[in-house]
Amino acid sequence: MKSSSMGMIFGEVSPSGGVNDVSKDQTVGGPDDIRVLSDGRRKRIFVQLAAAAAVIIAGLLMMVAYLLVTRTEIVRSALVFILQAGTATFLGIAIISLGAIVILIATGIHSGYWERVVRPFVVRLMLPLAVVVGRFIGISRDEVQGSFLSVNNALIGGRGRVPLESSEILVLLPRCLQWADCPYKVSQEVHQCRRCGRCAISDIVEETDALGVATFVSTGGTQARRLVKERRPKVIVAVACERELTEGIRDVGNIPVVAVINDRPEGPCFNTDVDAGCVTLAIKELIAEGVELEDASV
Ligand code: SF4
Repeated sequence: MKSSSMGMIFGEVSPSGGVNDVSKDQTVGGPDDIRVLSDGRRKRIFVQLAAAAAVIIAGLLMMVAYLLVTRTEIVRSALVFILQAGTATFLGIAIISLGAIVILIATGIHSGYWERVVRPFVVRLMLPLAVVVGRFIGISRDEVQGSFLSVNNALIGGRGRVPLESSEILVLLPRCLQWADCPYKVSQEVHQCRRCGRCAISDIVEETDALGVATFVSTGGTQARRLVKERRPKVIVAVACERELTEGIRDVGNIPVVAVINDRPEGPCFNTDVDAGCVTLAIKELIAEGVELEDASV
């Protein structure tokens, strides 16, 4: 009776109303056994997928071995075809993505093509490749990502021509922007900031309050994603380092993100700083119709 009740807490009820493997495990070791935390259904998913992967890979290897032994010419042709198809697909994506960036910047089209169509390919495929190439020729990851963020901001410039309500904008600040010795929990509620002026949060909150824009200090990607999900902004103005901003842009789907890179005078993730004026300027230009964000130096 005891082991059954624990199974209902940690385990899952099967479609037939019985308790799954977890409760069965408990009968072996009792409720203090670590196995009560092991979910039977999850284990099955992994085992089944791993077995399927093993079968597929083994099948492919056997097929390759068979072809190598019996039909060398066919293998060669197949490899050439696969390489050509892969190269053509990759080049197609690269040409379309980079061509679209040039056209969008040149024409100032602002119908969301960047976020909806181009940005996902760029941030997931072209940017990582650019970082690798940059590493070979001595350009740092931060520099490459910073360049990408500049492109991103330029393409949101078109968006600036569409007037926005202040309530449609969300400002996200990193935790490291707060002075390290500040005792107030601004990540829970930004208005806990006492405006002492020791860090940039003071000025930013003052400005965003005046503009009626919601501002949050985020402790990490998970909290930032939750905030975006809850508040559903039309545009995000985010302050962070190049890496966090790039990852954030990748995670928020097709929501435009104005990226403001922070300064790190004391190294990464510690007492960082930002020009509050850049944040304010970005917000004002998003709200005002017909203003080009490219001039905002963000
Ligand atoms: S400005 Fe606000 S957040 Fe920064 S140190 Fe002062 S009270 Fe803390």
